[in-house]
Amino acid sequence: MKRTVFGLCLAVGSCSAPSGGPPIEGWGGFSSGYHSGPKVVLGETGTARFLGPLLGGFDKEAAMATVAELDPWFREAGNDGFEYAMDEVGAKLRAVGFGSREGYELREIQTPMDASAWTPLSASLSLQIQGEAIQYLHQFHRGDDLERTMLPVHAPSCDVHGKLELNLAELDPGEVLVTDRELDEVLVQAQERGAAAVLSSYLFDFNVDPSGATRHLDAIHYGAVPAGTTLPVAHISPRIHALLSDLKDVDAAEVRLQASVRFDERPLRTLVATVVGLERPEEVVSLVAHVQEPGTNDNASGVAGLLEGALTLMRAVDDRALRRPLRSISFIWGDEYTASSVYLDHTERTVVAAIAADMMGNSPTETGAVCLLERGPDPGARWVLPPDEHTAWGVGELDPTWILPSGLAVIVRTALVDVGLAVGGWKSAEHPWEGGSDHDVFLGRGIPAALLWHFPDFSYHTNLDRLAFVDTRELYLSSVALLCAGCGVADARPRDLERYIESLLHERYERQGVVVEEEAPEEAAHSWGEWATGARRWLAALCSGTSVR
Ligand SMILES: [Zn+2]
Repeated sequence: MKRTVFGLCLAVGSCSAPSGGPPIEGWGGFSSGYHSGPKVVLGETGTARFLGPLLGGFDKEAAMATVAELDPWFREAGNDGFEYAMDEVGAKLRAVGFGSREGYELREIQTPMDASAWTPLSASLSLQIQGEAIQYLHQFHRGDDLERTMLPVHAPSCDVHGKLELNLAELDPGEVLVTDRELDEVLVQAQERGAAAVLSSYLFDFNVDPSGATRHLDAIHYGAVPAGTTLPVAHISPRIHALLSDLKDVDAAEVRLQASVRFDERPLRTLVATVVGLERPEEVVSLVAHVQEPGTNDNASGVAGLLEGALTLMRAVDDRALRRPLRSISFIWGDEYTASSVYLDHTERTVVAAIAADMMGNSPTETGAVCLLERGPDPGARWVLPPDEHTAWGVGELDPTWILPSGLAVIVRTALVDVGLAVGGWKSAEHPWEGGSDHDVFLGRGIPAALLWHFPDFSYHTNLDRLAFVDTRELYLSSVALLCAGCGVADARPRDLERYIESLLHERYERQGVVVEEEAPEEAAHSWGEWATGARRWLAALCSGTSVR
């Protein structure tokens, strides 16, 4: 009966399980399980082949231990925290034989940095009355301190003080500007007006506590200023901004900003661990996690999830729970975007697809986030139709040449559905391309790529993104879904093809139906048709073990 998707559905009546409802047992039923997105065919082939060994073998305590080790470090390209993280990841890979055992490669690529490595050492912002510090508003003295994001990346060391001014247009020389605008927007003008320093309480619109409480009032933005900035700058919380606004007219009130940072000239390190493929080792699936940024979810969780993923796959192959994949799988750690381009510039292998792992452990309870598949650009990025919708993060400018028909999204989606069903309930969702992580680098080189992340997260890019907001189960299941998807591409076999193709055709059928329902342009339906044809060809080549590039 499994001829065409359409035929199938009619044959057995309504075969798709309601989203979040119990799945239809056994082969052939369509369900999205606990995934908000198009349904997939249920079955034991495709990504389901890897579920048991990877779910059973992934050491979630070890992954969380790595997260906890990285949490106290403010990691930025080449700085002390970054170096520590790269040392830790490298040591754990070497300890099990990456780089020394046959079939398990480890490569560290060093490249020159565009700017000096910046390490924040300490800072304090105090309220002064007649030169006397009467209250510390923000401070940190160790990398582990809560208010460590008060210095934007590249901020200079300083010790300045001055009266408060809330209005850039009225800023007098020697005054301290207090603003809720992004630093980049006011820096040049403030410098021209002779500001002593600039304090910004800027936050993203979505940095709002979903619990109804007001934890975001103590959020301090994580951001950067251009390398070489000389004007003293700092981020402050909305609560402190409000306090300073109330003090504006207190004549003797001043603030003092002290900051200590260190700049180092270091090469930038990119780490690549590869499980070498059996039949087509020259082809590779790339999984990448950026190391820089101070967030514990963003992205110590991705670093740790990817690391434990590499170790889990090695153990599964060693224990013969899984065959060595047909194609190679490379695990990449480094500076966001740069690590991917450095990797692509140095690898001799042909990259068939890539998945970025960015924010993998965000606690749904604490942050409101859910695990998300960001598909590579497809017709859904041009015509955003139900069930698709963009996240609050926004959307980048789409380069139409990045629309590369492939079955990658079908395989990642299938992995998410399989993992959610296998554990009896784990929510995930998906959305069209938005950009903003390593997947863009691969797309820019004509390689199909997707992103696994978590959103919306009210602590995103703030000092609140710490260990307390990382959920062990979320990290475990997201990382296993990533690994299942990576194996699904690298070890795609002829017996997987039918499941992927039927899921793809079902998606096309659903999307073209929505085009009609929503009275969207005919071109959208046509475009999905073309997309499905190209993706089908890609899946057929992938599963037959021939070249997809
Ligand atoms: Zn990130």
